[in-house]
Amino acid sequence: MKIKYFLKRVILNLILCQNNNTNQLNVRTMNELIEIKNLIKEFPIQKGFFNKKVGAVHAINNISIDIYKGETLGLVGESGCGKSTTGRCILGLESSTSGTVLFDGIDTNNCDDTQKKELKKRMQIIFQNPYSSLNPRMTIYDTIKEPIAIHKHMLKSQIDTNIKELLDVTGLPSTVLNKYPHEFSGGQRQRIGIARALVLNPEFIVADEPVSALDVSIQAQIINLLQNLKEELGLTYLFISHDLSVVKYISDRVAVMYLGEIVELATTGELFNNPKHPYTQALLSAIPTPDPNNNVSRRILLTGDIPSPTNPPQGCKFHTRCKYVMDICKKEIPPTYHLQDNHQAACYLLREPVSA
Ligand code: SF4
Repeated sequence: MKIKYFLKRVILNLILCQNNNTNQLNVRTMNELIEIKNLIKEFPIQKGFFNKKVGAVHAINNISIDIYKGETLGLVGESGCGKSTTGRCILGLESSTSGTVLFDGIDTNNCDDTQKKELKKRMQIIFQNPYSSLNPRMTIYDTIKEPIAIHKHMLKSQIDTNIKELLDVTGLPSTVLNKYPHEFSGGQRQRIGIARALVLNPEFIVADEPVSALDVSIQAQIINLLQNLKEELGLTYLFISHDLSVVKYISDRVAVMYLGEIVELATTGELFNNPKHPYTQALLSAIPTPDPNNNVSRRILLTGDIPSPTNPPQGCKFHTRCKYVMDICKKEIPPTYHLQDNHQAACYLLREPVSA
């Protein structure tokens, strides 16, 4: 089973490497579409008849990051590190505990109902699981049409023209419209999910693990479709994934998350060629290559389990698994060090050496 999974990862790696992303993004010339400042999200743990709060899951711990117009920002990390919660807080599907999210200058938590409705049109999501994200009782026509019925007033002829155009750009035949989700393969269902996400002409899309439930050959097709749509429609993506090969291919910049914090952020080329944070280095070392000897020799094994987000460690959250851990790491949260080439990382190893 493990060998089969490993081979699948290598094949996907090879398919994507043929079209390796060599974009060099100059973020200094780009405008922010989304500005996230000191975002915190905690889920309270309640017990007893009166739902007394006895603790909290610290899902997002004070993150600040910008997403630029027209870029794909990859967000990577292990399961449960807060990636999806970050995407949901940006979209307003989860309310944040504190901090702000500005979309094109509008505070998404403090705006009136008209602005909220407008924002919902401008931001959309593509879900991880195309099997459960579509309503099995609705035809594909009704599924794609539903957001228009809620947000826009259009003549039926206009709606039909829009939907046909969407089928065209997402590579679906017009014969799908009267069918139901169970009649399609995973890849086709994800194309339907993408068509639904695009129907309101959004500017920003959170793609939450959009290919992880699909077969490898289909993954490459969906990733290429997302890449083409971004260029044709001028979209901005937050691309959430635990798969670094996929993120490397599609992203302009990559943010690495660990236990609710962003530990490293850089342009894709810089992050993959010059990772600074020990956690990023360990994640990159786990990307499989076709040479099995190479895989074993370069792999950095992380010892210990990821700590619980209900009781995260003090200081650097990675210190319980880091082979470079120092005393200060156990006591104080490392600041974010800004390096060259739009690269930043939160690790005491990047401190300027103290002169004697
Ligand atoms: Fe490791 Fe310390 Fe850096 Fe954290 S701050 S990653 S524990 S060296």
